Amino acid sequence: VERPQASSTRVRNNMRSVRRKNTAPELAVRRLLFFRGLRYRVDYLLPIKGCRRRADVAFPKLRIAVFVDGCWWHGCGLHGGQAKTNADWWRDKIASNVARDHDTNSRLHDIGWIVCRYWEHDDVTSVCDDIEQLVLRHRSV
Ligand SMILES: [Zn+2]
Repeated sequence: VERPQASSTRVRNNMRSVRRKNTAPELAVRRLLFFRGLRYRVDYLLPIKGCRRRADVAFPKLRIAVFVDGCWWHGCGLHGGQAKTNADWWRDKIASNVARDHDTNSRLHDIGWIVCRYWEHDDVTSVCDDIEQLVLRHRSV
């Protein structure tokens, strides 16, 4: 399926604003983790055979992968919504993103990684609390 042309200025602005990398929530999580003294890799190419998948944040030695999923791109039940134009294309696109997320999760589990997946609407502090506790727990093993 071809990526549709934005059919109006509003849609065009919307498409432009839903960036997939370095989103504001992702940056906020990274900043707070760093502030708390955690050191991590960003946009980390995961060691999954046969496909190129990246984690937003990764602790490779501890085998922890963190994803901060955009509500729109990953089909959040609260903010996923319905596209007004090119609805079929978007539905397919988002469904395939969700399927790939599940696939990434199971491939990571297969190679002994821990997967932490959050929504961009999740509270940054609780997300970081969660990650920090996990990292500290696994560091001390
Ligand atoms: Zn959401």
